[in-house]
Amino acid sequence: MDRETSNDVAGQGRAIPVTVIPGDGVGPEIVRAAQRIIAAAGVPIAWQEAEAGAEVFRRGDSSGVPAATRDSIESTRVVLKGPLETPVGFGEKSANVTLRKLFETYANVRPARELPGVPTRYSGEGVDLVVVRENIEDLYAGIEHLETPDVAQGLKIITRKGSEKVIRYAFELARREGRAKVTCATKANIMKLTEGLFKRVFEEMAPEYPEIQAEHLIIDNVAHQLVKNPAQFDVVVTTNLNGDIISDLASGLVGGLGFASSGNYGDGVAIFEAVHGSAPKYAGKDVINPTALILSSVMMLRYLGQSAAAAAVEDAVLVTLEEGSAVTQDLARQLGGDVEHAASTTGFTDRVVANLGRRPRTVPVRARLIDETVERRPAWSYGTDRYASIARSLVGLDVMIESDMAVDELGDELARLAGGALRLAMLESRGTKVYPSIGLSVDHVRWYRGRFLAHDGRTPSEEDLVGLLGRIATRHRWTEALRLQSFDGEPGFTRAQGE
Ligand code: NAP
Repeated sequence: MDRETSNDVAGQGRAIPVTVIPGDGVGPEIVRAAQRIIAAAGVPIAWQEAEAGAEVFRRGDSSGVPAATRDSIESTRVVLKGPLETPVGFGEKSANVTLRKLFETYANVRPARELPGVPTRYSGEGVDLVVVRENIEDLYAGIEHLETPDVAQGLKIITRKGSEKVIRYAFELARREGRAKVTCATKANIMKLTEGLFKRVFEEMAPEYPEIQAEHLIIDNVAHQLVKNPAQFDVVVTTNLNGDIISDLASGLVGGLGFASSGNYGDGVAIFEAVHGSAPKYAGKDVINPTALILSSVMMLRYLGQSAAAAAVEDAVLVTLEEGSAVTQDLARQLGGDVEHAASTTGFTDRVVANLGRRPRTVPVRARLIDETVERRPAWSYGTDRYASIARSLVGLDVMIESDMAVDELGDELARLAGGALRLAMLESRGTKVYPSIGLSVDHVRWYRGRFLAHDGRTPSEEDLVGLLGRIATRHRWTEALRLQSFDGEPGFTRAQGE
C-alpha cells in the first residue's frame, strides 16, 4: 500500500475503505476520472492505493501482485482497478488472473446495455443483458500437458461447488435487478459430464426461483441468437470459456470496449474493472474513453450499498452520452464525426461531474434495482453427508499410450496384456473407437487410449490396476492413466465415438 487518501465528506460518517490499483497504460487516467466522479457524488471513500502489473513484474515479482497489495485487498475486500499489462518475457502468469484466483472471485459479471448516443446496429431494440461468467474453473484452470511431443491436452475442470456458486449468483442478480429470465448456456450436448454438470446444477437450482424464467440453450445457439435478436436475453450464466467469448460478443453489440464494464465477485470480496486493456498507445495522452471504468465504479457503488450515488453517477454518464456534449475519440470515430476535436478524458469527466443530479431523457428508469447486500445462502448444497452417501465403485482403467504400432497389432497386444480382472474393451484415438475396428478411418497421431474394463460382475483391485500398468510399461510408453468409476451405478466417464 503506497498511500491512503480519503474523500470523507463532513457529516457523512466513516469513509469506506477501497483498494485502488491505477494499473498500467491508460489505467491511471481512467481510474482518476472515476475517483473524481465518485468524490463529486459525495461518497466517502478511503482509497488505499496499491500496485500491480508491469512495474511489479519488472522488479522481479513473478506474480505481478505484491504482498502489500494482497494485504490491502484482504482488509478492504473491495477493489477498483485499472488494466494491468503482462510484459512479455516476465513470466507468463497474468496479474489479472492472479488477482481473480487469489481472492476466488468466481462470478465475472458483464452488463451489456444499449447506451444513448452510442449508435449500434441494434439501437432502439432495448438490449439490456448481463453475462455472468464462471471465473475460476473450466479450461482456465490451466492444467495442460504435452502427452507426446505432438499431442497436447488441457483439462476442463467443472465442479458442482463452482457451478452452484456462480449459478446462485446469477439467479440472485436477476432477483435483485427484477429481471425476468436466466438463460444457462452450455455445450452439454457434447461435453456431457463437464458442461452437463453445470446444466444439471442449473436445473436443480432453478425451482428455488419460481418467479424467474429459467431456460437452457446450447452456447453456439446463444451466439447466433445474440447476433440475431439480443434483446431476448436478460441474464446469461455460463462456464468460463463460453463466457469469455459471449461476453465480448455482447460488449460488441452495445458500442465496444470503451463502454464495457465488469465486476468480479467472490464471497465477501469484489474487484471492479473495465473490460479493456491498458491501450498503451494512448497512455498519458488524455484521449481515452473512461466510460467503461466509470460504469464499473457504478457497479462498485451498488456493491457498497451506495445505490443512490450509483444511480446518480450512472445517470450523469447517460446524460453526457445522450447529449453528445463530450464525445471521446473512439465514439467520434464510430459516429463519423470530428476526431481531432473530440473530448479529452478530462473533458468527458468534467461533463459527467457537471451532469450529476440530472436524469437522462430517453433512458427508462429501471423498475427495480436493489443493493448488492443479498442474503447469503449456503454456497454449497453438496455437503459431506450427501457426498459420502453416494455409492462408488471402481470399474476399470483408461490408459493413454504413445505408439507407432499398427492399430490392430497394438490392440491385440494390449488385449493379451490385460489379464486378471480386466479386459481391453476398446482402443480409441482422439475420441473415436479404432479397435476393435468398426470401419471408421482416423488419422494416425501416435497416441491412443486403451479402455480396460472389469470382467462382468467383478471389481478390479488396486493390484489389478498397478499390475496392468506395470505390464504395459514393459512394452509401451504410457503417458497417463485414469481410474474409471461409477457413482450410484451411473458410469462416471463418457463413451468414445462408436464405442
Ligand atoms: P486493449 O488495451 O484493450 O486495447 C485494444 C484497442 O481497443 C485499443 O487500441 C483501442 O482501439 C481500443 N480501446 C481499448 N480501450 C479503450 C477505451 N477505453 N476507449 C477507447 N478505445 C479503447 O487491448 P490490447 O492492446 O490487446 O492489450 C494491451 C495490454 O492490456 C496487454 O498487456 C494486455 O495483456 C492487457 N490487458 C489487460 C486487461 C485487464 O487488465 N483486465 C484486459 C485486456 C488486456 P483503437 O486502436 O482502435 O483506438
